[in-house]
Amino acid sequence: NTPVETLEFQAEARQLLQLMVHSIYSNKDTFLRELISNASDALDKLRLETYRDKDLAADTSDLRIELVADRVERTLTVRDNGIGMSRDEVVALIGTIAKSGTAEFLRKMKESKDAAASQDLIGQFGVGFYSSFMVADHVTLLTRRAGEAAGTRWESAGEGTYTIETVEDAPQGTSVTLKLKPEDTEDHLYDYTAEWKLREIVTRYSDFITWPVRLEVERTVEDKTTREFETVNSGKALWARSKDEVPAEEYTEFYKHISRDWHDPLETVHVKAEGTFEYQALLFLPSKAPFDLFMRERKRGVQLYVKRVFIMDDCEALMPEYLRFVKGVVDAQDLSLNVSREILQQDRQIQLMRRRLVKRVLSTVKTMMADAPEKYATFWTEFGPAVKEGLLSDSENRETILDIASFASTHDAEKPTTLADYVERLPEGQEHIYYMTGASRAIVESSPHLEAFRAKGLEVLILTDAIDEMWVDSTDEYRGKKFQSVAKGEVDLDADKPEEAGDFEPLLTWLSSNLDSVKQVRLSSRLTTSPACLVGEAGDLTPTLEKMYRAMGQ
Ligand code: ADP
Ligand code: MG
Repeated sequence: NTPVETLEFQAEARQLLQLMVHSIYSNKDTFLRELISNASDALDKLRLETYRDKDLAADTSDLRIELVADRVERTLTVRDNGIGMSRDEVVALIGTIAKSGTAEFLRKMKESKDAAASQDLIGQFGVGFYSSFMVADHVTLLTRRAGEAAGTRWESAGEGTYTIETVEDAPQGTSVTLKLKPEDTEDHLYDYTAEWKLREIVTRYSDFITWPVRLEVERTVEDKTTREFETVNSGKALWARSKDEVPAEEYTEFYKHISRDWHDPLETVHVKAEGTFEYQALLFLPSKAPFDLFMRERKRGVQLYVKRVFIMDDCEALMPEYLRFVKGVVDAQDLSLNVSREILQQDRQIQLMRRRLVKRVLSTVKTMMADAPEKYATFWTEFGPAVKEGLLSDSENRETILDIASFASTHDAEKPTTLADYVERLPEGQEHIYYMTGASRAIVESSPHLEAFRAKGLEVLILTDAIDEMWVDSTDEYRGKKFQSVAKGEVDLDADKPEEAGDFEPLLTWLSSNLDSVKQVRLSSRLTTSPACLVGEAGDLTPTLEKMYRAMGQ
């Protein structure tokens, strides 16, 4: 064996570990879900790799996850015979945190003062392997990558450093052994060596894992004590089962497993297609936007399976960018296991499937709007800004997106309105949907542009999301009514009346010749209390958009 090397955790990893050691996570049981989930991923990867590389010297008979507890030593071992890790992988994957958004996560974590908010963040981030340190004061990981001769042992007490060494005799796959913290065994509720406890956690969190999770149990028959393995999960692919035979909690746990979200999902969407291209989908709308929803490298949340075999995470071919928050699983029967991202992007069947999934997600929101207005309100607050991106990128569904959108409006200070309701309220003969964009409701409401509209009792939509500037500019109309900015062009209130300039003629002429940066000075009926305001031309950028472009250096 080679000498033992001591290495330091990368700074971000160290900070994250600190959080785990001082466990702000109230539900410690979830460490097991994380370890089982990693083991399950490792088995998925091994199976996929043996399909793709026929020469891989790997043992794939009896793929499984095993849990072995030792009451005397107070250890718990979670092991799999999956893909395993090479030494370099151990250093790269376990010693550092490669996840995008970690820095942001840690910053928010520091800022958030209350425990509930911290838990939210952790739940969203998914701390994975490091959650072992919530319950263990020492962790040993022994692993050998399939196809490689030597294995690696990694050990750490969760502080600044870990040790790593090459070992000759490691079985294929990974085993993680936790030396449990003393306090956890004293309180029997947290005894992670107790059979009932382990059983309970597995059935609660990991029942749908498609690989067998086997628990080593002790049985005494006629004074003879034996130890044997018992499978404790049902292992049924949830999406393949009929909706009425699956209890709601199972969907919830499954959602948490794939999304690493702490919250229950807001809505579950089932899609099943039969015929020439068969597939099943189980999609979820989360109840809270992740903190990185608007970050560039944000991934999409739909996994692709082919005939129950996991193929890939973050399958961009299945969900458009603007629905990136949708989580779930799509299992297609008629694809090759070797399918690549490139092939998926071009596949016509996949495109049809995606269209159908998008329509189902949007129609689910529409139904929610009618049947569960509060749920809908939560959804729109959390995800509306992302969904509105679809008004620019998904012309096929533009009408539906406008239908399910809602906006702040001068009609009601508390309650947003839908466009349908706005149009409904329109007085006879009004052909426009008036809106004003701005950085906040307060800014928009204090703008002189709103005055005449307010005085005349005309409703104006208040658009304050950055994306609003973009879509409203490229969207012509809704149900025959044109979108009209109150800050642009001649607004047809009772039309401006230049012919009545009369007494003001000298002033207007003087202003025209003395103000360099305005094109024209007009008498206006749009103001009531302010003496003057600046108006853009109909084709101009709105002030906010102008500011955005300027900020972008254009
Ligand atoms: P995540 O699972 O979200 O990637 P984790 O912290 O749980 O984050 O794990 C980090 C990485 O370590 C995994 O992505 C995987 O590459 C590797 N890993 C963890 N556990 C195992 C395992 N049992 N077998 C193989 N690789 C593993
Ligand atoms: Mg993990």
